[in-house]
Amino acid sequence: MMVRRNLLRVSFFLVFFYLVTLLFSSGCGINQRAAGTVVAYIPQVRETEGIPILMYHKVNSDRRSGGLGLRVPVEEFEWQMGYLKRAGYTTITLQDLYDYLTTGKKLPPRPVVITFDDGYLDNYENAYPIMKKHGFCATIFVVAERVGGINSWDVQRGYPANRLMTWEQLKELERNGFDIQAHTLTHPHLTRIPLPEAEKEIGGCKRELEKRLGKKVNFFAYPYGEYNRAIKDLVRKEGYLAAVVTRPQGKVKKGDDLYTLVRVRVNGYVDRQTFVNILADPKEGYRIFYEHKKNIKPVPREVPKERVKNL
Ligand SMILES: [Zn+2]
Repeated sequence: MMVRRNLLRVSFFLVFFYLVTLLFSSGCGINQRAAGTVVAYIPQVRETEGIPILMYHKVNSDRRSGGLGLRVPVEEFEWQMGYLKRAGYTTITLQDLYDYLTTGKKLPPRPVVITFDDGYLDNYENAYPIMKKHGFCATIFVVAERVGGINSWDVQRGYPANRLMTWEQLKELERNGFDIQAHTLTHPHLTRIPLPEAEKEIGGCKRELEKRLGKKVNFFAYPYGEYNRAIKDLVRKEGYLAAVVTRPQGKVKKGDDLYTLVRVRVNGYVDRQTFVNILADPKEGYRIFYEHKKNIKPVPREVPKERVKNL
């Protein structure tokens, strides 16, 4: 009898806690259970106007695949996508964004563009299944002459080699609502090479992708985020409708220069609260991140010794 009553009591508490958990994890979805406690992730900043274009590179938990400056661990990426879903975001394409900016096309509530630079194989293996689960799509900027190969431009500088997606994988992503766009032929520093060479890199990439994928390629991402007046003019002249940069951090608004659309960088240093903050207000979110970063001591072994690059 006693045992039964205790059992009843235990199950009552279990159901009660389950319901409390449910209550906190539904709604806007800005709460998350962690280590047995409910941790709320709500923006610490006011949400600014504009549409965020998130910029990712690698999605990989293997530390050998490179530093956190260009790599988001799979678990964090999964949390970030879950947050976007719970917070009511809808992924749109760059074409949707372009149409909105130029013709006032209506967008769904809380639109976000998700982009990946370089075309790493881990985008296909790790990011794609997670995004598919949520019904999300992304734009991937690929290096046309390196498709199916490795990131030779980084290897030359002593960084780890990473496999890049094949044409078959890119085509499969295209068939499933993803969008493949241009990131030059070989990932050069466009502002440091002769203009005719830059022209070949920019125009050649567009033509190669259009031939291989059988579609129009309209958008361009500057390698290393580097551009100047002449490079911007080339991108326009080669027939691209718009281009994205890597800095400064910000959201896109009507009236912005179509050939320098800003993005919001997401890398492995971005913790969950920072992700929520930079989505609401990229500049302020990153300011808080830096301020906080000054005060935190590096965790031994967890955080590899490397510079925070291009933040
Ligand atoms: Zn790149």
